[in-house]
Amino acid sequence: MTCASIYLDANATTPLHPEVLAAMTPALSHFFANPSSVHKQGQDARALVDRAREQCAQALGCDPRELTFTSGGTESDNLAIRGLVGAGPGRRIVTSAVEHPAVLAACAESGAEVARVPVDGSGRLDLAALDRALPGAALCSIMAANNETGILFPLTEIGALCRKHGVPLHTDAVQAVGKLPLSLRDLPVDLLTCSAHKVQGPKGAGLLWARRGLRLEPVVTGGHQERGRRGGTENVAGIVGLGAALELATGALPETEPRLRRLRDRLAAAALAIPGARIAGPLSSLVCNTLNVAFEACDGETLLVGLDLEGVAVSTGSACSSGSLEPSPVLLAMGYPPDLARGAVRLSLWSGNTEAEIDEVCALLPVVVARARGRDRSAHT
Ligand code: PLP
Repeated sequence: MTCASIYLDANATTPLHPEVLAAMTPALSHFFANPSSVHKQGQDARALVDRAREQCAQALGCDPRELTFTSGGTESDNLAIRGLVGAGPGRRIVTSAVEHPAVLAACAESGAEVARVPVDGSGRLDLAALDRALPGAALCSIMAANNETGILFPLTEIGALCRKHGVPLHTDAVQAVGKLPLSLRDLPVDLLTCSAHKVQGPKGAGLLWARRGLRLEPVVTGGHQERGRRGGTENVAGIVGLGAALELATGALPETEPRLRRLRDRLAAAALAIPGARIAGPLSSLVCNTLNVAFEACDGETLLVGLDLEGVAVSTGSACSSGSLEPSPVLLAMGYPPDLARGAVRLSLWSGNTEAEIDEVCALLPVVVARARGRDRSAHT
């Protein structure tokens, strides 16, 4: 086998786009001033932040004044949840059983009562249970696309239920923005989280969109930056990178979305040809770049290492806690038996993946799975 270098872990992070780097470079060197400074240099830096805000608003279909720049998805989730629940009446949050840890931790930190709506074996949200849970809630937070499985939740239906009960809806769209057409003008959503580094932007930059009129308490307190919603000198280069990355990703979507979907579906076919493979969710319910596949009688970590040795970077859904591999809570919530959940790997594509790379991974998968199964069997005998 050849030793390629194939990156299929885009849901963890993506490489910086060369045009994003080019846009950021002046902000890291020439335009070094503090955008809050009154002098000319300060105002030049402010102009970069303003332009990036316009680019983000254009990409998301919203008013630039509704955007708050943050340090990324984790902070935006915290600002949406703790900022809103801290400010408003009601002490109950409704969320799903499969949210990202940033949402779950922010819900827990808020001190509110948390109701988690279950999903079925296909990863579908139980909308009847959501309808029952919403009355009297201060906030509903449901992700757009799941980071481990790529399963999309129906935001239009979820938003309609939230509107019916007068509950604001936050969505963590970190794994959806730049991967599917999305306009805040059309969505019945009130707050949205986005992160730059999942769309070939820099790490440490993100935003929270909050519909005009919503009251949010800052979570990062200090100066009056970002209209008092987020203290701290702006990360000018990061913000410029976020604006450029969102513009590029949304502009390229008509080309990238169908291409990544086609490549992903080829990986899915190759995986399903291996006996004892199970893909999380029907392919039609997944964001274009993600595939989570669990193999019976196989350890996901062994598989990850086997693929890594062949030069293919993927991830498992498992979390390592105190040295033992815990099966993914997302797959367990979908009713996977723990042993099958431990055999899961996530393949997540980005726009740089080529047909040739996918051919190579399709050929490698059965070999690496067979080898991992052999190793796991002999380790247990
Ligand atoms: N939400 C989701 C769904 C994610 O996948 C991630 C990152 O993996 C985050 C939030 C956190 O984003 P960040 O790394 O920008 O803090």
